[in-house]
Amino acid sequence: MDSRPLISLADAKDALRGLFSPLPAVERALGECSGLVTTEAVVASEPVPPFANSAMDGYALRAAETAALPARLAVVGTLPAGSTSGPAVGAGQAARIMTGAPMPPGADSVAMLEVTRDLEDGRVEVLTSVRPGENVRMAGEDVGAGDTVFEAGTELSPAHLGVLASLGIETVRVHRRPKVGVLSSGDELVAGRSHPLRPGAIRDANRPALLALVEEAGCEPVDLGIVPDDEASLRRAMSEGAELCDALLTSAGVSLGDFDHVRRVLLELSGGTMTWLEVAVKPAKPLAFGAVGSTPVVGLPGNPVAALVSFELFARPGLRTMLGSRHPERSRVTAIAGHDLPRRPDGKLHLVRVVLSPGDSAALVARSSGGQGSHQLAAMARANALALLPDGPGASAGEDLEVMLLRPW
Ligand code: AMP
Ligand code: MG
Repeated sequence: MDSRPLISLADAKDALRGLFSPLPAVERALGECSGLVTTEAVVASEPVPPFANSAMDGYALRAAETAALPARLAVVGTLPAGSTSGPAVGAGQAARIMTGAPMPPGADSVAMLEVTRDLEDGRVEVLTSVRPGENVRMAGEDVGAGDTVFEAGTELSPAHLGVLASLGIETVRVHRRPKVGVLSSGDELVAGRSHPLRPGAIRDANRPALLALVEEAGCEPVDLGIVPDDEASLRRAMSEGAELCDALLTSAGVSLGDFDHVRRVLLELSGGTMTWLEVAVKPAKPLAFGAVGSTPVVGLPGNPVAALVSFELFARPGLRTMLGSRHPERSRVTAIAGHDLPRRPDGKLHLVRVVLSPGDSAALVARSSGGQGSHQLAAMARANALALLPDGPGASAGEDLEVMLLRPW
């Protein structure tokens, strides 16, 4: 009989907090930086755009020429993007110009092609007036030389990488990307194409799912395979994994069962400092964690949904802390229950797998994604959010719910 006290989610997260810290700073080429977090501010040494240029295909001219319409102007040349020198544009003149081409001296604006008409005599007729500066992108309008473009602690998205490239920056100082080992434990587990399954065996679902979650969290996954339920094998696999990786995730073997060796081995390898909790959440109740040497190890539960929900609650924020993220948690928003979501009071927070979709109003509507057993992984796969149902009778249709976003809808 399990008589251990249940720990609230908040207390469990507090207990875990010291386990993870940001990895040291390294210099990395831009191409390796997607999802990494800067360790120092990035300052622009040059302006973007580097020179005033046309925002449109059209004619560069002096805006004052278009005060009276139509304006008929002599065309003094054509400026493609990338041109280095163009004729100056004087009174009564215009230069044909393409998007991105440097503004020629003398011109202060661009009339787009759509409001012009080429005349037979080689001149151009401008049919609407333009304002000074119209359709001109000024030097430094995006980023000025000397500007701090990104503060330390910026998570580099694809657009951030584009900005850095536009500044000619080839390497950035970032927190190193953690290597995260994942192993499955259990004598019943088989991987791959074993057909038919031997009696009593099941296929290892947790490892592929957790490896993908590790990658999605921005870390480098390391597949440490399936380890049988014996202490010697686990001791070897976990100490080698801790040596090789910056963090280690295991699944199964953290409950009270006779063969739950993961927590016993973790207790030993962590020098007795392992924490073993029964968290007041459903699924994902059992959790073991500790440091092996300096490597954080999280022992996730074995039931597949519990393993993945536990990853979301405990492992993902920890790994994202190692990445240096200042926002390691999944976003939470309010949604409306699309139907009754009943539950029994049991002292636990329930994390219900739901499909979130836009409703008729501005609100998001949450509906159960299917069977809610901790072994029913298909409903987890269909879900794009977890609804947080506090202890009590559950939620009624139309009630507000707090939901944790897993994927877009
Ligand atoms: P345990 O924590 O070892 O008692 O496992 C709890 C439940 O999860 C058992 O039904 C296991 O067979 C199942 N389980 C453990 N590991 C995996 C895995 N990697 N993939 C799928 N099911 C698993
Ligand atoms: Mg087991």
